[in-house]
Amino acid sequence: MRHLLSMDALERAQIERLLERAESFEQLAQRPVKKVPALRGKTVLNLFFEPSTRTRASFELAAKRLSADVINFSAAGSSLEKGESLKDTILTLNAQQPDVIVVRSPHVGAAELVRSWTSAAVVNAGDGTHEHPTQALLDLYTLRRCFGHVEGLSVWIVGDVAHSRVARSNIIALQKLGASVTLCGPPTLIPPGIEALGATVRYSLDDLHQADVIYALRLQRERIDQLPLPSLREYAACFQIDERRLGSRQVVLHPGPVNRGVELSSAVIDSPQSRIGAQVQAGILVRMAVLYELLAPAPAPQQANVREIA
Ligand code: ASP
Repeated sequence: MRHLLSMDALERAQIERLLERAESFEQLAQRPVKKVPALRGKTVLNLFFEPSTRTRASFELAAKRLSADVINFSAAGSSLEKGESLKDTILTLNAQQPDVIVVRSPHVGAAELVRSWTSAAVVNAGDGTHEHPTQALLDLYTLRRCFGHVEGLSVWIVGDVAHSRVARSNIIALQKLGASVTLCGPPTLIPPGIEALGATVRYSLDDLHQADVIYALRLQRERIDQLPLPSLREYAACFQIDERRLGSRQVVLHPGPVNRGVELSSAVIDSPQSRIGAQVQAGILVRMAVLYELLAPAPAPQQANVREIA
């Protein structure tokens, strides 16, 4: 793997390899000193042109746990505010010779563009409404920990599918690992033709009991000029996952940030069926795996075991 730009570009075997690699870092996370020298001397540049809490912090922590140096760059306070173009910004930062550039941008295709301007490996940490591959990987990881497998699970993705890169990456990733995906929300938030990606579409929660996993999405208000809904109250009445709707064997995921009381009720967020905290923990392991796969020297002659390196 030279870059990680989309789930679309990954084969099932590559996904499984990344998940296994992430699992090999689990033990490390339990140790008092959570650091290994695997990427000593490597530099990771975090380039965030959009707000982020979880993704940015976990890429930074992942890089540091592998002993890489980290540079954090955000658009606010940079020369982008003085009119420097994205290309010139990348060329300038590239001169500092990063080994990996992790990029988040509001624009579809930004990571692909960055790749064409740098010799570093590029990781897409979210490009507009397009993809967020490391989110999908950490979701797969969480489901494997929870059920032991992804194959055969029925996953309902509920909410603002139209503006969600997380939905897109997950529709692709879940099906590659053998899950079935149902998309559910009001017609104005489900893009026409999305069935072409292989998912089933529903416009009500009537059959929600069929789901093993309910994946709730936030309304992406930063990408919506005018809310295509009568009101938030009405939306919550029809699509909120609350304790009435959640079956006792179902598991709830959410990529964060959650709008409490809109897509999920407080009781559901705080219930043991919610795996939101596990998703955040998986985020560090999966991002360590991605950085490791991109940067660690190829093992010779037999596959090196990370547990040994650690
Ligand atoms: N954190 C996720 C993203 O960056 C989901 C969200 O913002 O709702 O796409």
